[in-house]
Amino acid sequence: MKRIVLLGSTGSIGQSTLKVVADLPDRLQLVGLAAGGGNLDELARQTREYRPAAACVFDRSKLPALREKVGNATRLLAGEEGLVELAMLPEADIVLIAIVGTAGLRPALAAIEAGKDLAVASKEILVMAGEAVTSAAKRQGVRILPVDSEHNAIWQCLDGKPRHEVRNLWLTASGGPFRKKPQAEFAKITLQEALQHPTWSMGNKITLDSATLMNKGLEMIEARWLFDIEMARVRVVVHPQSIVHSFVEFVDGSLLAQLCEPNMRLPIQYALTYPERLANTLPAADFMKMSRLEFEMPDHDRFPALGLARAAGERGGTAPAVFNAANEVAVARFVKGEIRFPDIWGIVEHVLAKHRVVEHADLGQILEADRWARAASAAWKG
Ligand code: NAD
Ligand code: MG
Repeated sequence: MKRIVLLGSTGSIGQSTLKVVADLPDRLQLVGLAAGGGNLDELARQTREYRPAAACVFDRSKLPALREKVGNATRLLAGEEGLVELAMLPEADIVLIAIVGTAGLRPALAAIEAGKDLAVASKEILVMAGEAVTSAAKRQGVRILPVDSEHNAIWQCLDGKPRHEVRNLWLTASGGPFRKKPQAEFAKITLQEALQHPTWSMGNKITLDSATLMNKGLEMIEARWLFDIEMARVRVVVHPQSIVHSFVEFVDGSLLAQLCEPNMRLPIQYALTYPERLANTLPAADFMKMSRLEFEMPDHDRFPALGLARAAGERGGTAPAVFNAANEVAVARFVKGEIRFPDIWGIVEHVLAKHRVVEHADLGQILEADRWARAASAAWKG
């Protein structure tokens, strides 16, 4: 039995995780749940149904309402301290971070210090603080298990093979809804159009990041840290069907891939049950749906995100944290209607160019760079 703390339980990954747990009740148990508080009814419903040892709402003002909805049977926590306490829960074996953005960073570091394995969906925390998170995990002897489908695929294909046997890691990208859109039309893209993902159903932030290809840029840096490999060997290929979830190209020319329907339940389950594979209720592979798998090289002129990510990842230090924070603010500004779609890249490029990178930054320096980049991105006027 694996005992799980789930941070971000009401979101897209959170809900898929609950389905995985419901599917494997003899092997997986939820001992902690946390969410932001935007959907309090759902957090309360989950708490009543799964009866975890503790539940946490990030927004403190919602704590009394949550208490009223769940009664006195469950210990309730709030705020960042609540997330950190949950991440260190003595009852837990593994902590799954599925909080959008970087609010999961402190809880992730706390979980590692408490000796818990970490399953990471929140790529933003590895982009922001990949060096700090992976070195802490190494020191504490805990695992970092990738939930992001591409990284989960690479992890399955690598299967413990050493880095020197790898020529390249190939992340697949759907290409998003604007794969074929002429550049001249980018300035007119609406929020509604950008939220139409061709193959995956996900939270709004990652859906918008998929439309700009910033998601793949974040994933390049995520891969660099998860697999301890230099950026030059992290490559991207566009694959519109999202059936091949990524490839490992080995030095002998062999290419291994992991394939399945685009459904996050599979990578989540593999991360939670690792090293075992367990039978589940997911539909079996349908070869008719796989009869046409296409691949093409990304268009760097129309989609500058990949080049920006590569530059930030190669620069290292605080550059990836600035890349991530600038993107987060730019996406929020696009949602509010303050900027046009291509300005998202414009802001990231501008803020990265202005940043003075700190090498081998400690956590305080990373958080300072994050704050600086958010302010600079909010002030950008074009
Ligand atoms: P979402 O917007 O659907 O859900 C976000 C969750 O985080 C919600 O439960 C929300 O309440 C919670 N949350 C937000 N701020 C919080 C805070 N300060 N404290 C505690 N909880 C907070 O997002 P999502 O699509 O599930 O994505 C979550 C993470 O997983 C992101 O980092 C995303 O990049 C990554 N990811 C998602 C998918 C996917 O299929 N959705 C795939 C790969 C990776
Ligand atoms: Mg992904």
